[in-house]
Amino acid sequence: MVARHDLTTDPGLQEQLLQARRGTAFFARKLNELSDAELDGDSLLPGWSRRHVVAHIGYNARAIARLVEWASTGVETPMYPSVSVRDEEINFGATLSPIALRNLFDHSAVHLSVEWRDLPEDAWHHTVRTIQGREVPASETVWMRTREVWVHAVDLDNGASFGDIPASVLERLLRDITGSWATRGADAGLLVKVAGTDLTFGDPDAAVVVAGSLAGVVQWATGRGTDGVTAGAGPVPAAPKWI
Ligand code: ZN
Repeated sequence: MVARHDLTTDPGLQEQLLQARRGTAFFARKLNELSDAELDGDSLLPGWSRRHVVAHIGYNARAIARLVEWASTGVETPMYPSVSVRDEEINFGATLSPIALRNLFDHSAVHLSVEWRDLPEDAWHHTVRTIQGREVPASETVWMRTREVWVHAVDLDNGASFGDIPASVLERLLRDITGSWATRGADAGLLVKVAGTDLTFGDPDAAVVVAGSLAGVVQWATGRGTDGVTAGAGPVPAAPKWI
């Protein structure tokens, strides 16, 4: 008997699952607004058409579903055999017919949602490994997917913006990115401030202070433009590399 609702009863996790599914629905909406011909257009990502973005999001759902299956069965099933295999898969996916590409997105998203729904409470703590080699609890897969669907919806470049992304998702994304900079020492001399909040990240004695709205700061931090951010009287520097 298949459950009709998530097996987890953890309210925090249920809330995170909601954000992931909302993000998936948002991506679906932006994708559905694009005609088949428009799929051939450029995305915001250098060298990637919209087709690449859709293929990536579809294969990403499959890869994350493999981690959830791993947590469920205890049988190790990595996201991808290697980074190069992942990249080849995206390039192949980008050549699919529009209907096949749309099906890839739809079916993979439903499959992942069902894998999450049916994962027993205790299995959410089981350790899996990401493509970056990080060992994380299965619950982390929800966030991994959340940030992909929201950010890549913007990358489709047909009207979505960082302002459409829920503040809680933006804030966690900013913590991830600035945390990654701090780990690598990439934020030396740089302070990031979110206007109207007490969110500040980086070097308190920094010579360069990048400030703006939460959506603006996250857009900048992900390397997607400088709208809505300032750096004192000077030019806004490029954000350090994120991943
Ligand atoms: Zn991605």
